[in-house]
Amino acid sequence: MVSLTGKTAVVTGSTSGIGLAYARTMAKAGANVVINGMGEAADIEKERSAIETEFKVKAIYSPADMTRPAEIADMVALGEKTFGSVDILINNAGIQFVSPVEEFPLDKWDAIIAINLSSAFHGIRAAVPGMKKRGWGRIISTASAHSMVASPFKSAYIAAKHGIAGLTKTVALELATHKITCNCISPGYVWTPLVERQIPDTMKARNMTKDQVIKDVMLAAQPTKEFVTSDQVASLALYLCSDEASQITGANLSIDGGWTAA
Ligand code: NAD
Repeated sequence: MVSLTGKTAVVTGSTSGIGLAYARTMAKAGANVVINGMGEAADIEKERSAIETEFKVKAIYSPADMTRPAEIADMVALGEKTFGSVDILINNAGIQFVSPVEEFPLDKWDAIIAINLSSAFHGIRAAVPGMKKRGWGRIISTASAHSMVASPFKSAYIAAKHGIAGLTKTVALELATHKITCNCISPGYVWTPLVERQIPDTMKARNMTKDQVIKDVMLAAQPTKEFVTSDQVASLALYLCSDEASQITGANLSIDGGWTAA
């Protein structure tokens, strides 16, 4: 069992889906957590207080918008000021948009690159000085099977996720002698609100029914024919935080039911 008592984890995009599972898993292992993301204030407060009650740790919420570099730096500073350190940074916030490349809206391209890629750079840039000073750190980003392979109609998302894999390798090399690891996790399809929301657009782009999108697009790529769960992704992140994982750095770890083996 990995113990993170005394450590602090910042998890971006943790008001929903995989990020919420990361935050709860880190807290369950004893870390104080900074949660972040969009949503109704009451729902976020419910999540925050549930983490404190269930896991007997401290949880605070940062409303940082991942399109705004200054707010990302403030989020890391808030974690350091409140808890004394940010030891684990999980770059997870992400959005999706599905459209043929020639019709891809410019604002959607910019938003996806900002939230899914640049925000990880800004978070890492802000968190690394403290990690270096303390001589320990874990940086984990949620990439995707789409950091390794492509699918049509997701140009911005796939460009951003390939970027995350490159950023991960570079940062890992720079920090290799500082006891700070930097890795990314590449899930296949995980059943979360993000996936649910892209069904209508994919139905339109491919002229398919909902069942066809689920079976012939989503799970067609996944040889196991099962969705990955958020908890499975979070368990892998927890392992990456352990001492046993100290020699795993610069890796892009698949958790995709065999998708990228094909
Ligand atoms: P989700 O929609 O359930 O959660 C996304 C989170 O990001 C939410 O908390 C949301 O509020 C937050 N977010 C969005 N825009 C933001 C912004 N501007 N500032 C701050 N927070 C913002 O999605 P999810 O499926 O849990 O996805 C989480 C990550 O996992 C994403 O990076 C996604 O690309 C990646 N991923 C998901 C799947 C999947 O199948 N669900 C597969 C591979 C990778």
